[in-house]
Amino acid sequence: MKKVVTITEERNVCDYCEDENKETYGECPICGAHACYECKKDHFTERTAELHISSSGNQFCYKCIANPPKEFKKLMSLYDEMDALKNRETNFYESERKIQKILEDKIREEKKCLT
Ligand SMILES: [Zn+2]
Ligand SMILES: [Zn+2]
Repeated sequence: MKKVVTITEERNVCDYCEDENKETYGECPICGAHACYECKKDHFTERTAELHISSSGNQFCYKCIANPPKEFKKLMSLYDEMDALKNRETNFYESERKIQKILEDKIREEKKCLT
């Protein structure tokens, strides 16, 4: 015989929009919140674990980052230090690039004067 049966399965549902049809892409390791692709952009951020490996980080929800439980406080402050380092590195390369550009222009000018 034919019969319509309902299959129940356990699956991760986005904690923010609660849309059961959306796949989730992030899980906060602290509170276990799940987020779909769209909600992840608003509610999750990645903390960097290794400076030059972009996929090395973990996704954390903003709520836990703003108010981490005691046992995560150390990890979060280490991540903060990593962010600061990352910013310093970015600024360093930016100013290096500016110096490089000025130097290139000067060389170009100087060569022009000589021909
Ligand atoms: Zn969502
Ligand atoms: Zn969380």
